[in-house]
Amino acid sequence: GFNNGIVGLPNVGKSTLFNALTQTAAAQAANYPFCTIEPNTGRVAVPDQRLDVLAKAGKSQKIVPTSLEFVDIAGLVRGASKGEGLGNQFLANIREVDAIIHVLRCFEDDDVTHVEGGVDPVRDADIIETELMLSDLESLERRMAGWEKRARGGDRDSKASLELAAPLVEALRAGKPARTAVQPGQEEAVARLQLLTTKPVLYVCNVDEESAATGNAHSEAVRKKAAAEGAGVVVVSAAIEAEVSQLPEGERAEFLEGLGLADSGLDRVIKAGYDLLGLRTYFTVGPKETRAWTITAGTKAPQAAAVIHNDFERGFIACETVAYDDYVTHGGEAGAREQGRLRIEGKEYVVQDGDVLLFRFNV
Ligand code: GDP
Repeated sequence: GFNNGIVGLPNVGKSTLFNALTQTAAAQAANYPFCTIEPNTGRVAVPDQRLDVLAKAGKSQKIVPTSLEFVDIAGLVRGASKGEGLGNQFLANIREVDAIIHVLRCFEDDDVTHVEGGVDPVRDADIIETELMLSDLESLERRMAGWEKRARGGDRDSKASLELAAPLVEALRAGKPARTAVQPGQEEAVARLQLLTTKPVLYVCNVDEESAATGNAHSEAVRKKAAAEGAGVVVVSAAIEAEVSQLPEGERAEFLEGLGLADSGLDRVIKAGYDLLGLRTYFTVGPKETRAWTITAGTKAPQAAAVIHNDFERGFIACETVAYDDYVTHGGEAGAREQGRLRIEGKEYVVQDGDVLLFRFNV
């Protein structure tokens, strides 16, 4: 599955957020650094209001949302790339994730120790980013030495790798993340280098409860930084989200409303994490269930079918497609068909977000 790694300095609220996300008390939030050493992985349902609407129109018995994985990667500190605080192990854990959710402490609380002395989320973000850049620089320089040797011996792959890596190393040496030097079309080749600073980043500002609806000066500073980098930002109060996650489903909306919050911060984190990975959703609707399925942007119909079952790709013949809006406007499949809004698409069809699909295949 696709996953987001939750990173940040100690005591910024990573575990609190992770626990709220996965609604487990298992990964214990504790007021001291290095409390979580093994990465914790949780699978989270992706909220999607379209599911309820489709299930009603399709008279389905149940709803099955799609899901996303989150990994709690604790313990990053200044000096991690030099092995501080088990740093190398944590950096290796980040290598495994598809995208980075960077939690920043934007709440003041004298009872919660700050490892850097005071609340300054932009400085904190720079500390972590620096560790990731140092780690990338070290790993690239090490590999480049080998490529140079083999390139001199006439090895073409090594020469190509050198050409790919040269601008990335240059950026890193200038104190910029490698992602700033990736040229269009190089994305896949660069991804194979498994660098940390080419992964997409979302900043999550963990603000005090009073600032959950509005944000505060700290989260504003992060917004400015993120805007300059083209990165995303979500403002949440992990403490509120922890409370919400303990409430029965039916009481959550009212609780949030009482705090002046329109929606759950967790929902916003999950959705932003989904977008960060370039993921899209299509639906299948039947009397038994309405279900959401995850694909990456640009996926064609046979590969989209394979998400349901591997055999569906091999036996793929065609698919019937209705866009979400058409499905809802015309009251379901039959209505959409009558109005000519149901299309038959073949092997080359690029599935769109919100498509309601019915696959035809040979078994
Ligand atoms: P981690 O080390 O980043 O995983 O941080 P934790 O989630 O363990 O949180 C560290 C401490 O900060 C715990 O005592 C939490 O209860 C506290 N904490 C987390 N989020 C908030 C928040 O939004 N407000 C306040 N006041 N405390 C928080």
